[in-house]
Amino acid sequence: MQKEGKGINPFEIAQRQVDIVKPYLDVDPGILEKFKTTRRELTVHFPVKMDDGSIKMFTGYRIQHNDTRGPFKGGIRYHPDVDIDEVRALAMWMTWKSAVANIPFGGAKGGIACDPKKMSKSEIERMTRRFTWEISMLIGPEVDIPAPDVYTNPQVMAWIMDTYSIFKGYAVPGVVTGKPLELGGSLGRFEATGKGVVISTQNACKQLGIPLEGAKVAIQGCGNVGGIAAIYFERLGAKIIAISDSKGGLYNQDGLDIKAALDCKTKYFCLLSDKVTKSEPISNKELLELDCDILVPAALESQITKENANNIKAKLIVEGANGPTTPEADEILYEAGKFVVPDILANAGGVIVSYFEWVQNLQELLWSEEEVANRLENILTRSFKEVYTISEEKKVNMRTAAYILAIGRVAKASKLRGLYP
Ligand code: GLU
Repeated sequence: MQKEGKGINPFEIAQRQVDIVKPYLDVDPGILEKFKTTRRELTVHFPVKMDDGSIKMFTGYRIQHNDTRGPFKGGIRYHPDVDIDEVRALAMWMTWKSAVANIPFGGAKGGIACDPKKMSKSEIERMTRRFTWEISMLIGPEVDIPAPDVYTNPQVMAWIMDTYSIFKGYAVPGVVTGKPLELGGSLGRFEATGKGVVISTQNACKQLGIPLEGAKVAIQGCGNVGGIAAIYFERLGAKIIAISDSKGGLYNQDGLDIKAALDCKTKYFCLLSDKVTKSEPISNKELLELDCDILVPAALESQITKENANNIKAKLIVEGANGPTTPEADEILYEAGKFVVPDILANAGGVIVSYFEWVQNLQELLWSEEEVANRLENILTRSFKEVYTISEEKKVNMRTAAYILAIGRVAKASKLRGLYP
C-alpha cells in the first residue's frame, strides 16, 4: 500500500487510543497500563527449504495481548512489512474488537515477515508448517486460536490445522478458524469480514439518513475485505466508483463493473484499466481523496493521516482495514463532521463468524448459512447501536465510543477476576 503511513508506529497509536477513554471510565490507572502492554510475545527465527534447494531464514511472531474475557484470538499475517510493533498493535485491537462485539475472546495476532507473492505454493506450505510448529506451545482451541489475515487464506489455515493435529495425534479442527468447509470451516466465514463491513455501512447509513442505493463508494483494497465488500455493495445498488490494490486502482465516476475488475485481479494479479471497460487508472492516494459518499479503507494501517485527512471528501468512512486512520487524522475528520465507523466495529464480522466456527467445532455441530448470516447481522447491528448510543450520550466520536464500550467490558471482567496472587 501507500508509503505515506510508513514511519508511524502502530503500537504507539494503539497505546494512545487506550488513553482516550481515561476521562470517561473509572478504571484503575494500573489496569489501563496493563491494557497498554501485551501479555506474552513469542518471536521465532526459523529456516525453510526453498524450491531451488537453498535455505532461507524467516522471522515470525505470535503475540497475545489479553485473555481476560476468553481465549486469545486473532489472525496471522504474511507481509514484507510485518514487524513486532505491528503485530503488538494488531493483537491489542483484537482484544477490543472481541469486546465490542461481546464475544468471549481476548486478543492475539501473528505474522511472518515474508513476501508471499514471490513464493511458490509449496514454499508457503513449508513456511506455514514450520511456523506452526514454532508457535505450537502457544496455540490451541482452549488457549489461542489463529485465523486468516492479510495474504493468508483457508488453505494456510488447513496446513496449520494439519500440522497441529499431527503433533497432537488426532484431528483438532478448533485450533484455527477460517478453515475450508471440508475441514470444519463455517458457512459464511470466508465472506464474513467484507459482508460485515457492508452491514456496518448500512447501519451507519440508516443513522445518517444516507441512502445506500446510488451512493458513490470508493474502496481501497480488493482482497478478502475490499473485494467482497464491493460485491455486496453492488448488490445493494451502490456505485463503486473506485477500487484498488497495493499498486493502484481503477476509477469510473459512474460506477465500475466490479465483476470485471475482480476477474482482472484474479487473472493478471493486478487491476489493469485496459482490461476493464470504462475504467481509468487511479493511485491509492487519489482514491482516498475522491469525491464520493462512502470511503472504505480496506488495506493496511496508517492510510488516512494528518497529511491527507483534510482532503477526504466522503461523509462516511467505514474502516475495513485494521488501524487505517491515525489519531491526528481522526481529530481532523471529526472536526470536519465526518462519521467514521471504527475498525474494531466495522470489520468485526470476521472474528464474529470465527467465533461461530469455533463454537461449531467444539460442539461438533454444523450451522446453516442462514443461521450464521442472521446471528452475524444481529451482533453487528446490536454493537453498532451500543456504540452509537455511547457516542451520543458522551458527545464523542464513534472510535472513542467503541473504546469506552470495549475497554469498559474488559476492565469490568478484569475487576471480577481480580489480580493474582
Ligand atoms: N484477521 C481478522 C481480523 O483482523 C480475523 C481474526 C479472527 O477471525 O480471529 O479481525
